[in-house]
Amino acid sequence: MIARVTLEIALRKEFDYLIPPDMAGRVEVGTRVKVPFGPRHVMGVVTALAEQSPHTNLRPLARIVGAQSPVTPKVLALARWIADYYCCPVETALKSVLPDAVRRENAAWQERLWVRAQPPDGALPKLSRRQLEIWHILEEWRDLPLRELLQLAQTTADTIRRLEDRGLVRIAPRIAERDPYAREQFLPTQPLALNPEQDRALRRILDAMDPAAPSPAGSPAASMPAPQAAVRVFLLHGVTGSGKTEVYLQAIAHALQRGQGAIVLVPEISLTPQTVERFKARFCAGPAPTLVAVLHSHLSAGERHDEWHKIRQGRARIVIGARSAIFAPVDPLGLIIVDEEHEHSYKQEEAPRYNARDVAVVRGQREHAVVVLGSATPSMESYYNAKRGKYALLELPTRVDHQILPVVRVVDMRLETRQQKGTPILSMALKEAITRRLEKREQVILFLNRRGYSTSLQCPKCGYVAQCPHCSLALTYHRPEQMLRCHVCGYHTPAPTVCPQPACRNPAIRYAGLGTQKVEETLLKLFPHARISRMDSDALKRKEDYRRILGDFRLGRIDILLGTQMIAKGLHFPNVTLVGIIYADLSLHLPDFRAGERTFQLLTQVAGRAGRGEVEGEVVVQAFTPFHPAIQYARRHDYAGFYEQELEFRQQLAYPPFARIALLIVKGRNEDKVKFASEHLRKQIAETLPHPDDLIVAGPAPAPLLRAEGFYRYHLMLRTRHMLRLSRSLARLSTDLVLPEHVTLTVDIDPLNLAS
Ligand code: ADP
Ligand code: ZN
Repeated sequence: MIARVTLEIALRKEFDYLIPPDMAGRVEVGTRVKVPFGPRHVMGVVTALAEQSPHTNLRPLARIVGAQSPVTPKVLALARWIADYYCCPVETALKSVLPDAVRRENAAWQERLWVRAQPPDGALPKLSRRQLEIWHILEEWRDLPLRELLQLAQTTADTIRRLEDRGLVRIAPRIAERDPYAREQFLPTQPLALNPEQDRALRRILDAMDPAAPSPAGSPAASMPAPQAAVRVFLLHGVTGSGKTEVYLQAIAHALQRGQGAIVLVPEISLTPQTVERFKARFCAGPAPTLVAVLHSHLSAGERHDEWHKIRQGRARIVIGARSAIFAPVDPLGLIIVDEEHEHSYKQEEAPRYNARDVAVVRGQREHAVVVLGSATPSMESYYNAKRGKYALLELPTRVDHQILPVVRVVDMRLETRQQKGTPILSMALKEAITRRLEKREQVILFLNRRGYSTSLQCPKCGYVAQCPHCSLALTYHRPEQMLRCHVCGYHTPAPTVCPQPACRNPAIRYAGLGTQKVEETLLKLFPHARISRMDSDALKRKEDYRRILGDFRLGRIDILLGTQMIAKGLHFPNVTLVGIIYADLSLHLPDFRAGERTFQLLTQVAGRAGRGEVEGEVVVQAFTPFHPAIQYARRHDYAGFYEQELEFRQQLAYPPFARIALLIVKGRNEDKVKFASEHLRKQIAETLPHPDDLIVAGPAPAPLLRAEGFYRYHLMLRTRHMLRLSRSLARLSTDLVLPEHVTLTVDIDPLNLAS
């Protein structure tokens, strides 16, 4: 037999090796192996088995690494699809599919030495007083880790060894699982009685999970027309607080009953202890408890290894995690849930540039698992698929608690600027609203998606603007440290006190634009008695800060919470009755065709933070373009209305969901070379790509952020309705393409970020 192996060292190729007789039967697809390669031995993964090889003089595998292959053959096949579709080498795809912690050669369970008492059949042999004391401790505990015994008995390992020599104890290594949640307790919860809308949604999902199950006679379902041809994917469109999570939980319970597992994807930022707790509390206790594995970027390598293998061994059948959890080796897989499916964090911004939501759909199809995409503001792509019948649309239009959605007021900041002779940070309306809420001892959230103090440092006399020396971007002023910082590359320099232009030296240098620090300063002046906290990545220096501030806010120790999009997501605070959005059009002006969609989503989400408790909520939106559809439809909580008009715009310009995009990024330190290379690339595309009639090519053009971290970038944007075909052509083209020295080409399929 021949093993086809992908090597860790990225060479867009697979290599054939002989399986030596002593390894026969132990090598399967997914097995990690060490193989000879030139004079060295390197790590690899078996990606296929074959009877014969076209090559001669094959060398044998050196050895098998690890007892069980960390991936299932199905997930490995998925990696091949990712390489094919996202236009990258298989080795690159494998790097995401197999986390480092399980791929490394020395990845293993952590072992600890345990001591176990071996009571003798007859009388206890004669022991010293010290030995007898230790024996009594051991008799009581039966077994315990050596290290703990040493502490408890105030003794040494030698003493214990002597007990072992006399046959009274056994010392043996045992696996010590690293469980990041080991110290937390969960109160078990029961499934809630669903409301009719939830019930309808859940039934549709369960029906898809048991396609062959006949509905029991006499049940209402029996008299209904047969369901339409099975769709495998559901889009669950439900406003915040409509009870989507409860539907997920009950669908998962059903998968478990069928002997299948489930993967739940949530955006990294929503993977809070509360979220994890809801899942653990439902499934970790009760009559048939199962482990819930959690995968996210804050795990140590050891914890990640252990969580992964608990899944692989089938002990944990539910996985909850961020993006890369889509590759968890759950088998058999019954259900995949992608919560907040519109979130951009599902897209990986480095190779392989996959979108976990789309991979979920593909994986679900391949493994016959039901996929549920959930969101209050579905992406245009998913909603379009649902409208076309490719996905089944499930709607939860009302909140579980029957609360009405908050009233949203839009303040025209142009009028405000005229009336107040200058642009205020807070409009009259917002100022009054805050005052009112504070008097009633209610809480306020203010949102501005820009950190720092001001956006730029300008000299009104000579027009100088402080720029990053490595990026085509103005530096942001950070007041607490008196620094200018670049938000792209991190460059920083002390803020000057006079204009740095030698000919100018104007001391009246000014800071233009607005950041969270400046808003905080204004709030402190306007509301001196309020307790105010700022939450952005500058304010959060340590991992615990996030939890601590949210905890204080929950306990009512903070009156006004001001923050960037960090506070927009999934947080639930019953006492928040007012949400203020300081500058709603900020994200509208990004040079990206999704700017409107993103603004709509952000406004809807932030507004959803108001009025989650007894008191009705209120939202004040400050905007310079108050009549923009993204703002107006968000004001009316009208997703369908926004979708319709946005779809028209997308159709006119042949943007997604009507076509798919491949973004080609040409990058290098020398702008002339980059420009030349991208023009050459355009010519190559015109000459070599088949199916030119399906292809729209735009560019090359300088990227919106022409220079970042010292590199110039040019973009070419390709649009097609048949992406897999284009990806394959691009893969061929990029292997044949000869680029000038120090110029690189990146291919980003289905890019989400066009603005940089
Ligand atoms: P979503 O995920 O759509 O934001 P959740 O599932 O978090 O909504 O539900 C919001 C709140 O309503 C939660 O506190 C949840 O426990 C509660 N809830 C959900 N479904 C029900 C139900 N059928 N009966 C009572 N309470 C429910
Ligand atoms: Zn920079």
